[in-house]
Amino acid sequence: MIRIRKPDDFHIHLRQGPNLPAYLADAAGSFARALIMPNTLPPVNNPARLREYQQEISRAGEDLPDFQPLYTFKISGDITGEELEEMFRRGVTAGKYYPLGATTNAEDGVADHRNIFPVLDEMQNRDLVLCIHGEKPDSFVLDREKDFLPVLRDIRSNFPRLRIVLEHISTEAGIQAVQELGDRTAGTLTVHHLMRNLDHLLGGMLNPHLFCKPVLKTPGDQKALVDAAFSGSHRFFLGTDSAPHKRGDKECDCGCAGTYTAPVAIPALFQFFLEQGAIDKENTRLFQDFTSAHGADFYGLEKNRGELILENAPWKVPAEYHGVVPFLANSELQWRVL
Ligand SMILES: [Zn+2]
Repeated sequence: MIRIRKPDDFHIHLRQGPNLPAYLADAAGSFARALIMPNTLPPVNNPARLREYQQEISRAGEDLPDFQPLYTFKISGDITGEELEEMFRRGVTAGKYYPLGATTNAEDGVADHRNIFPVLDEMQNRDLVLCIHGEKPDSFVLDREKDFLPVLRDIRSNFPRLRIVLEHISTEAGIQAVQELGDRTAGTLTVHHLMRNLDHLLGGMLNPHLFCKPVLKTPGDQKALVDAAFSGSHRFFLGTDSAPHKRGDKECDCGCAGTYTAPVAIPALFQFFLEQGAIDKENTRLFQDFTSAHGADFYGLEKNRGELILENAPWKVPAEYHGVVPFLANSELQWRVL
């Protein structure tokens, strides 16, 4: 058995409605905290809606007293200073910038990043973190992240004190940009982008459950992400982007983007770090830093005090959780969360 500091997930989708308690319980099985994305319908983009979503999640998590949700709001150009102040007082952790049309429920996203400069200025003054879905939606799908990077650099140079997280990095170019942009720029990496590439999605038989935004990239890009995760750099940490969609919404004519990793993220990633030789059973430091320290440090949060116990006991990942096909469905994992 191996004990690690309880991990944080700095990017998760919990949806809303009847399945929320189940999705929340899956996350709480491995994580002490999770940063909950605001792209619900309607979006979390004002104080009233934030309060409503906080209440819904509190109710759903009544039986999970050890789990702490962290909240975000969706940035738009028309958020006022008073609204921002009230969301800040309600404990919001970060604001999320979605380019117009970049992913699920981003039809109300930001058309021109300069339109949100007044909001970013307020966020910088309050030391709120900016999370970015870094894709230029009208570019060719494999170029979207690379083509977005000039926007990231423009925001960086205009707001030198703002803490910025480039979410779910999928390319070598994205990794390099974060490395170049200094200490107040970080990046999250997902389990599926670390462990899979475009070949797994469509190189053989089509696997719609690996279809996500940003889409999986080349083996070279995947290697750059893995190198960043294994580098020990405090500016790269886990954000799973776990995003449940019902089987029928993935296996259909127009399948939704999103991969459901929450139930398997930690055991699968732990096994991956071991198999790749980044850690061994006697020294899991690099893994713990990636899952349980770097993110907390960047966000200015105390590290979790609780532990997660991983047991070396093979198990088969179920075909479905609550009607959602998880990452690694039906395959055997060597480690399980106790
Ligand atoms: Zn996401």
